[in-house]
Amino acid sequence: MDFLRPASWEEALAVKAAHPTAVPIAGGTDVMVEINFDHRRPEYLLDLNRISELGEWTVGEEKVALGPSVPYTKIMENLRSELPGLALASHTVASPQIRNRGGVGGNLGCASPAGDAHPALLASGADVEVESQARGARLIAIDDFYKGVKRNALEPDELIKAVHIPRADGPQQFSKVGTRNAMVIAVCAFGLALHPRTRSVRTGIGSAAPTPVRATAAEEFLNAALEEGGFWDNGKIITPSIAKQFAQLASGACNPIDDVRGSASYRRHAVGVMARRTLMWTWESYRGGNGRGAVEGAA
Ligand SMILES: Cc1cc2nc3c(=O)[nH]c(=O)nc-3n(C[C@H](O)[C@H](O)[C@H](O)COP(=O)(O)OP(=O)(O)OC[C@H]3O[C@@H](n4cnc5c(N)ncnc54)[C@H](O)[C@@H]3O)c2cc1C
Repeated sequence: MDFLRPASWEEALAVKAAHPTAVPIAGGTDVMVEINFDHRRPEYLLDLNRISELGEWTVGEEKVALGPSVPYTKIMENLRSELPGLALASHTVASPQIRNRGGVGGNLGCASPAGDAHPALLASGADVEVESQARGARLIAIDDFYKGVKRNALEPDELIKAVHIPRADGPQQFSKVGTRNAMVIAVCAFGLALHPRTRSVRTGIGSAAPTPVRATAAEEFLNAALEEGGFWDNGKIITPSIAKQFAQLASGACNPIDDVRGSASYRRHAVGVMARRTLMWTWESYRGGNGRGAVEGAA
C-alpha cells in the first residue's frame, strides 16, 4: 500500500486524478477500522492531513463553509449558535478521542445511513462542494448526495472540498436512539430544523432506510398546517393532532431493516417518537423567542 501525502489541495486533486482508486484519509476513524479488519486493502491511501484549509471553517452572512476535516469537537465548541443541529449531532458521535479526529467529510465519504451528521445536514439544507482536477468544482445539494447504502454522488476523481451549511434561522434539534449514551451507532436518528424566514420545516432521518432521507410528506403536511393555523405569526402551541400526524408521516418515510441494533418496526416507531419530540422542543423554543424575531409581524 502506497501512502500519498500531497501538501496542497491542487496536489491532492492531481494525485486523485492520477490514482482514482486512491482512498482519501482524513481523521481515519472509518478508514483505519476498515483496513484493520481487512475489509479494505487499497493500493493507495491519499492522506489529506497536510492540507490545512480542510480543517478550517468560515462563517459567512448566510452560510458556514465547513472544511470536511473540521473535527466534531471544534463544531461543538465553535459553531453551536450557527449550526445547532450539527453541534448536537456531533455531541453524540462516539467518544472524545473519535470526535477529536473524525469530521463531517468522513461521514459524507462513508455515506453510512447511520452517520450522525446526515440528519442535521438534510434538515439544514446543506450543499457539498466537490472538486476534480479535470472538471473543476461543483455543488451537490445534500438531497442528491446519498445514492445507496454507503454510496454517494462523488466521482472517482473527486474530493470533498467543503460543506456549505445555512446558518440556523430558527431552532434545530437532533435526537438519536442507541443502547447507551456514548460510543454507539444509531439505531435510528432524527434531525429537525425550523426555518422561520421561509416559514418552513426540514427534517432528516438516519439509520432507518438504505440512505439518510428527509421525511418530505411530513414536512409538507406540517408546513401547510402551520401556515393554515397562522402558527408562525401567533406562536400558538402546536395541537396534539398536528404533532401526531407529523409523527405518523415521519414514520412512514422510513424503509428500515431488521438488524442486530433494532427491528424495522421498532425503528419506525422510534422515528415517530423522535419526530414528535423534536417538533415540540423546537416549537417551544420558537414560541419562547428563539427565532420568532425572524418572522415578520411576530407578536
Ligand atoms: C469507535 C468508533 C465509534 C464511532 N461512532 C460513530 C458515531 O457515533 N456516529 C458516527 O456518525 N460515526 C461514528 N464513527 C465513524 C466515524 O468516526 C465517522 O464516520 C467520522 O465522521 C469519520 O470521519 P474521518 O475524518 O475519521 O473519516 P476517514 O476515516 O478519514 O474517512 C471516511 C471516508 O470518507 C472519505 N473521505 C474523507 N475525507 C474525504 C474528502 N475530503 N473527500 C472525499 N472523501 C473523503 C474516506 O476516503 C473514507 O471513505 C465511529 C468510529 C469509531 C472507530
